[in-house]
Amino acid sequence: MNFVSTRGGVPPTPFDVALVAGLAPDGGLYVPETIPQVDLDVPRATLADTADAVLAPYFAGSRLRPRLAALCREAFAFDAPLRPLRGPGDHVLELFHGPTAAFKDYAARFLAAALGELRAPDAPATTIVVATSGDTGAAVAAAFHRRPGFRVAILYPDGKVSPRQAHGVECWGDNVQAYRVNGSFDDCQRLAKQALGDTALRAERPLGSANSISLGRLLPQAAYYAHAAAHHRAAHGRALHVVIPTGNLGNACAALLAQRMGAPIGGLHLACNANDTLPRFLAGADYAPQVTRATLANAMDVGAPSNIERLRHWFADDATLRATLQATTVDDATIRATIAAAPARHGIVACPHTATALHVLETLRASGDTRDWSVVATAHPAKFDTVVESLVGHAVEVPDALAACLARPASAIPLDADFDAWRNALRAG
Ligand SMILES: *Cc1c(COP(=O)(O)O)cnc(C)c1O
Repeated sequence: MNFVSTRGGVPPTPFDVALVAGLAPDGGLYVPETIPQVDLDVPRATLADTADAVLAPYFAGSRLRPRLAALCREAFAFDAPLRPLRGPGDHVLELFHGPTAAFKDYAARFLAAALGELRAPDAPATTIVVATSGDTGAAVAAAFHRRPGFRVAILYPDGKVSPRQAHGVECWGDNVQAYRVNGSFDDCQRLAKQALGDTALRAERPLGSANSISLGRLLPQAAYYAHAAAHHRAAHGRALHVVIPTGNLGNACAALLAQRMGAPIGGLHLACNANDTLPRFLAGADYAPQVTRATLANAMDVGAPSNIERLRHWFADDATLRATLQATTVDDATIRATIAAAPARHGIVACPHTATALHVLETLRASGDTRDWSVVATAHPAKFDTVVESLVGHAVEVPDALAACLARPASAIPLDADFDAWRNALRAG
């Protein structure tokens, strides 16, 4: 299949080219030329099987097509269970059973495996540059760790991620190097962009990106929505509606894609933290990116969601978009209260991101909504022990994969938010 840019300035581009490029040459985001229809009403046996069915049309004509089933088995090697909660029709879709206990593991693993397949065996090593405000860095590090032909350089803002998130970025070693930046996430993102835009540096050190605008991260995420909705429909005969904790809008765009491809997904409701660019826009205001605000749900601290371009591209106009999607902003005090009440009310311990969605679910129920809803649990609460444990009043059990990561020694190179220092570090690395 061919891909076009949200800004309309590039000719139809084959998948393999779009995947390696990341951003389209006109500065837009790649989207499929048309959204393929797949029979997603039939539940498939495994998540990897569903991923294969969802991704197959996009890979038509790709060099990766014959390897797609194997890539799906590698990336979707752990379950994404849909579990009932206490309230009638309430569910949680757990996306945190991967090596770094957040949903980004699925797509990062898929992207790493796909780029690994596309790479020429004699090519010099590519350094994947990532700026992270939370979970992306760890997921990308884990996915590329010890993968031949790749190195990873992760930039994260010192003191602005949870201690366990920091450990998850710093604990890999081998071909992965973490840089602890004396600055904000926006500084980290600027340094990553500057490096990727530096032609002289790239001639010396091949660089690549793995950020959330990449097709290799967007498309695979449609799989768990399609899988959960198909099984829900088969068991109950009803569509599944979802509340998605949202930052850069990648996960929400993937849910929309699954729905448009034919998965039995009802409404989508986006839960945001105090970074309310999207709720304001959907409520009717002009689109206005804002300066990022730090919140308890730090992986959703995004003032200018990059995937907004895809969302607007997929609707005829903003009025239709506003009539179809809803978004709600949830402040830190409400996140805290929701985490504290969740064990008794819903029977789960929620991370701060998941708590934004739980609060939206509670609001829907209070307004009399009786449809089947699932909140999306984007990270395991044990990653946010410093916030969660004092609110629920007990220790949170650490999943095995996260425990293994925490048991490894951690190290990072301190870096000032200065491009010369960063360029020298990349040259030396
Ligand atoms: C990245 C992340 C989000 C936001 O996902 P987007 O695709 O950027 O909207 C939500 N929760 C957690 C735990 C995350 O790591």
